[in-house]
Amino acid sequence: MSAELSVVVPVYNEQESVPELYRRLTAALSGVVKSFEVVLVDDGSSDSTWEIIRELAARDGRVKGLSFSRNFGHQMAFTAGLDHAGGDAVVIMDADLQDPPELLPELVARWRDGYDVVYAVRARRHGETAFKLFTAAAFYRVLRRITRVDIPVDTGDFRLMSRKAVEAFCRMPERHRFTRGMVAWLGFRQVGVPYARAARHAGETKYPLRKMLRLASDGITSFSYVPLQLASWVGLAVSGLALLALVVAVAVRASGGTMPAWAFAAAALVLLGGVQLVAVGLVGEYLGRVLDEVQRRPLYLVRDSVGLGSADQRPPAVTI
Ligand code: UDP
Ligand code: MG
Repeated sequence: MSAELSVVVPVYNEQESVPELYRRLTAALSGVVKSFEVVLVDDGSSDSTWEIIRELAARDGRVKGLSFSRNFGHQMAFTAGLDHAGGDAVVIMDADLQDPPELLPELVARWRDGYDVVYAVRARRHGETAFKLFTAAAFYRVLRRITRVDIPVDTGDFRLMSRKAVEAFCRMPERHRFTRGMVAWLGFRQVGVPYARAARHAGETKYPLRKMLRLASDGITSFSYVPLQLASWVGLAVSGLALLALVVAVAVRASGGTMPAWAFAAAALVLLGGVQLVAVGLVGEYLGRVLDEVQRRPLYLVRDSVGLGSADQRPPAVTI
């Protein structure tokens, strides 16, 4: 029989955090749900994270583990966890205890109220750099303006999803995965719960600027065409300016004045060159993603698993 609640956690080199996460999760959930399982997805860790997961799974049958053949990224780890979770509701959360397990009873309570998606909104954030706070706040607000999907601001991936929402999510085959946007896209009844985001329990962030930018750009390109359209708008504005400059040049000549012809020509050339390069770059961003999609590679590969039976493949999409 499957558990009432599954908790899916991506782990990448988190050997210091996993035992504490297990302790706090089991404490927070005891008495709250009839039964639960914890699905730990090891995203190609190079420390002893996988050994720790195996030990926990050997001691406690509620702990299950998947280990990727290499580092596929946080978002793929969520996907694999959701593919393999059997609970009537599934929580996804980070391993570093920035998402407090003690919030789970509240998420479960809202699910029991009839919501399909209960997402945790960061009311306060501790232990983050000013740079991260500023860029995150700006990103969520820009994203909200340029997408048609209603993606809640200041919300990470920490959330609970009902079985219905999970099955719908598992039918989304794309490989550039921006989970928080994809779940918003699903619809159903959704509600936010505010919480204070803690500082990391141990170690340092596994999200260097490079990965953060990738995620941000996946979020924008998967949910908005605005950057593509930007090229035409800027092109239009530049053409308007060029036309104006032409009129000015003709007027200056007609009134007997002189001005060097190259001044206009040079300015127009540089401006147009810049605009065109930006536009080509934007098209490239989208084109690259189209290429990735048509290759239809598996989203992730499993090297090893505990407690999950045969967990090699992404199970066939469920029809609802
Ligand atoms: N993570 C992962 N694969 C990666 C990077 C991170 O599975 O390539 C996990 C990591 O172990 C953690 C979660 O994703 O559980 C969030 O990462 P992190 O806390 O480093 O990000 P931050 O909170 O600094 O944005
Ligand atoms: Mg973190």
